Amino acid sequence: MPVPGPFYDAHCHLQDPRFGPGVGSLLAECRARGIHRLVVNGTRESDWDRVADLAARHPELVIPSYGLHPWWSRDRSPAWLEDLEARLRADPGAGVGETGLDRWMPDPDPADQEAVLLAHLDLAARFNRPLSLHCLRDWGRMEAILRTHPRPARGFLLHSYGGPAEMVASLAALGAYFSLPGAFLHPAQAKKLAAFRLVPQDRLLIESDAPDQLLPAELDAFSLPETGTGRRLNHPGNVPEIYRHWPAADPWVVESNFLRFFT
Ligand SMILES: [Zn+2]
Repeated sequence: MPVPGPFYDAHCHLQDPRFGPGVGSLLAECRARGIHRLVVNGTRESDWDRVADLAARHPELVIPSYGLHPWWSRDRSPAWLEDLEARLRADPGAGVGETGLDRWMPDPDPADQEAVLLAHLDLAARFNRPLSLHCLRDWGRMEAILRTHPRPARGFLLHSYGGPAEMVASLAALGAYFSLPGAFLHPAQAKKLAAFRLVPQDRLLIESDAPDQLLPAELDAFSLPETGTGRRLNHPGNVPEIYRHWPAADPWVVESNFLRFFT
């Protein structure tokens, strides 16, 4: 039975050039499916203007967030932190991230990733902004950093939480929210999905991570062909499918979590 909504996308990348110029119609499709707000995460300095532009054109739908993703943070300019702080001062509704730690990527530089993460964490704590964190294969270090540094009073988001089930309680005690992507509905991701059974009801969020993290093909109501290649892209209009297949995601509870954390 269809879930009526309202729905919220806690993490996506609508500024991604793979979407091409058609993001206006994509957002209209999201609205038609009952999606009320989407958090659009910048990943590098060169996409922050596109994130700001989307938020300016669609203020009723898009919440902007600015950060350096560990895959791209090595390319940062000397002025990145100053620019990030200026964007937060200019927009009291803007978040911090996506940023984090990644030991899965080829040739990671853990010390550099940690320095960049700490700068984001410090800003998010000082401005008490929603902080969106990415972590792959470095959960022990992530937990230690969060435990020993000042954190935003409102908490922080572990997007696509794929850490150990045993860490959910201690991370929640530090203020974590956990967002579930549709890709965890693949049978191969059953272990990651199972960790979400331990997420406290008042810390659960749902995300598309579009254009990435496709749902299993049979649940994918809205995939898009990438301009040029024709490869399937994830569409944030799939967010209601994630709610439908994870009954713990009561739309009214997730709405209250989303609004408490992001606004
Ligand atoms: Zn992301």
